[in-house]
Amino acid sequence: MSKAETKPVEMRCGGPADGERATEAVRVDVLTSRDVPLGGPRAMTVRRTLPQRARTLIGAWCFADHYGPDDVSVTGGMDVAPHPHTGLQTVSWLFSGEIEHRDSLGSHAFVRPGELNLMTGGHGISHSEVSTPRTTVLHGVQLWVALPEALRDADRDFQHHAPEPVRADGAEIRVFLGSLAGHTSPVRTFTPLLGAEIVLQPRAALTLAVDPGFEHGLLVDQGKVRLSGTLVGRAELGYAHPGADALTLANESDDIARTVLLGGTPFEEEIVMWWNFIGRSAEDIVQARQDWMEGRRFGEVQGYDGAPLPAPELPTVPLKPRGKRR
Ligand code: MN
Repeated sequence: MSKAETKPVEMRCGGPADGERATEAVRVDVLTSRDVPLGGPRAMTVRRTLPQRARTLIGAWCFADHYGPDDVSVTGGMDVAPHPHTGLQTVSWLFSGEIEHRDSLGSHAFVRPGELNLMTGGHGISHSEVSTPRTTVLHGVQLWVALPEALRDADRDFQHHAPEPVRADGAEIRVFLGSLAGHTSPVRTFTPLLGAEIVLQPRAALTLAVDPGFEHGLLVDQGKVRLSGTLVGRAELGYAHPGADALTLANESDDIARTVLLGGTPFEEEIVMWWNFIGRSAEDIVQARQDWMEGRRFGEVQGYDGAPLPAPELPTVPLKPRGKRR
């Protein structure tokens, strides 16, 4: 795929003509997930849809893990010891359960269903994530956003936001980043982004106006959802190419369907991703790893019961940039 494929957006004057628009074809690819154990003695397994061979990014979204519903008495829940991040933001969004977050800024927060927790790593931050003893079922998504080069060293930050649910056409929408269905999240992003949970009633169908400059990904948590004509199953990510000014979501099941819609303008930079780091070169990654192992740059997490995570060994093959040039 190359940039030349992106079709120029047609100008429209005189207001929307929704009846006409709905018939336009939207190109949707279905990306399947792979199971990834998070590591540790009683490790939970997540379903990863980004990055994968066919696609590294959707907008600046560069990582999508989907997990649960997990009975924590069986899986052991989540217990991720202090670990570093650079060049990215982490987005935690839960459907069920509770996670205790601590970071090297001194933030101590509880991640709860329907509430955005956004951590900006900037040049370097570290955090721990542990499901709380109150949690019986853990279920949610863990997402990362790549920071653009000019803002890669942005101030480290931790933000919390609980969006008001918006109701429309048999759906309940929580917009945690960007704008959708007439609702705009107050949380600042570094590139144009969209992040929203959309819950559809049985057999409900919904058409949403979207930014034609965006590409979108619909992660289906529960149910079977037809995204602008293409069926997307549970734990799959439907990728809608840029150029669509509306997306249609149709729940093809007799139960509630739950989805997370991600979007953004295509990220124009190549990135190097390794472990918990995003850089622009292999040297960036080697330096970040060394700084973590030697106790520099990422600060210290207070209050976690246990040792920080050591970085894995670097691969013997060179770290290659991914993203724009595919
Ligand atoms: Mn993390």
